Amino acid sequence: MDFSIPAELSMFVDSVRRFRERELMPLEQRFLTEGRFTPQERRDLQERARSQGLWALDVPEEYGGQGMGTLATCLVVEELYKHPGMFEFGGSPEPVLYQADEEQKKRYLYPVIEGERRSCYAFTEPGTGSDFARIATTAVRDGDNWAINGTKIFISEVDRADFCILFASTDPEAGSRGITCFLIDMGTPGFDASRPIPTMGDDWEPYELSFSDCVVPDSARLGPVGGGWALANEQLTHGRLKIAAFQLGIAQRCLDMAVEWAKERVTWGKPIATRQGVQWMLADSAVELEAARYLVYRAAWMADEGQPIRNEAFIAKLYATEMAQRVTDRCLQVFGGLGYSKELPIQSFFRQVRVWRIGHGSSEIHRWMIARNLLGLSSRD
Ligand SMILES: Cc1cc2nc3c(=O)[nH]c(=O)nc-3n(C[C@H](O)[C@H](O)[C@H](O)COP(=O)(O)OP(=O)(O)OC[C@H]3O[C@@H](n4cnc5c(N)ncnc54)[C@H](O)[C@@H]3O)c2cc1C
Repeated sequence: MDFSIPAELSMFVDSVRRFRERELMPLEQRFLTEGRFTPQERRDLQERARSQGLWALDVPEEYGGQGMGTLATCLVVEELYKHPGMFEFGGSPEPVLYQADEEQKKRYLYPVIEGERRSCYAFTEPGTGSDFARIATTAVRDGDNWAINGTKIFISEVDRADFCILFASTDPEAGSRGITCFLIDMGTPGFDASRPIPTMGDDWEPYELSFSDCVVPDSARLGPVGGGWALANEQLTHGRLKIAAFQLGIAQRCLDMAVEWAKERVTWGKPIATRQGVQWMLADSAVELEAARYLVYRAAWMADEGQPIRNEAFIAKLYATEMAQRVTDRCLQVFGGLGYSKELPIQSFFRQVRVWRIGHGSSEIHRWMIARNLLGLSSRD
């Protein structure tokens, strides 16, 4: 197995770096003080990026995008996540939308690519997270319509969304094979964004969604009845790898800052960089970050070669998210009290990385899946 980063891709990532330095970094101090970008600020930033050609990067060329692959996507988010605002370029739809029929594409996919509409993605429920197949939200067919009832929880980006990609059970006896996907406009009667849920992450306020006799036509169904989990599963793999790539940017930024600070901060007449206790924190962080980087890049390269990466994505996300937790913690320690203060982004990164060990499959579920693959066990074992 051999891979390298093509020179033109490195040059493109340089342009992303320049965007981050010019457009995002000047907003960092205000972001840290206020703890958020407003939805309008995010849109404005995305439009500025668009005017510089940074738009719909991973969208296939046949849909008017730039057709960049998985490795390119990982390198881009790695660069962007060096800013704590979790900013991403616009025009990238949730991959399930490519499975939509032509009418649905006109209503949802193309407007997302154009930046006219945005989605949220609703799977998790109060009683069902890791064990997704047991979702209790039901969609019951009545002629040409479906009646949807249930509650979703921890749904991100609801405040920015125009429609919801909803997963509901259409056959509770059939487990994951009884899950169906629907596209539902915000504001549909019976569909309510019932409450925001403040979290320890800056600027991250997921919502509870409630569906009470929410009636949608069969044309709102995305993919076959019972085919929702198969649609979601592929997306989860690539989502996991992207999350692993976020961690590289976060950890790199914190480590770069900690290295500079260690050289600057003097105690007992010497920079703390000369103390072995500090050096080891930096060295361990560098080693773990480099190991995570190769796991992510290798899996991304394999995906671009058309190889399956389900297990590789589990491994990369598990290692990278736990690495980022350790690295942000050590870097905060190197900064002492300053690291804990909101004058620096370290504390924001430290809080942000915590969620990635939970969302998109927790560390424990990842270990379970990796062990299952290792031991050759099936989903029934
Ligand atoms: C900020 C935020 C944003 C989110 N955004 C979205 C979103 O946009 N859309 C969406 O659908 N969901 C979203 N989620 C939900 C997220 O995907 C779930 O929180 C995650 O899947 C875990 O589910 P849970 O919280 O119900 O934990 P649980 O499944 O209740 O797990 C609790 C603990 O038990 C452990 N555990 C569970 N089962 C096992 C087992 N068999 N073996 C060992 N350990 C086990 C878990 O690892 C975890 O540590 C978001 C969550 C957060 C916090």
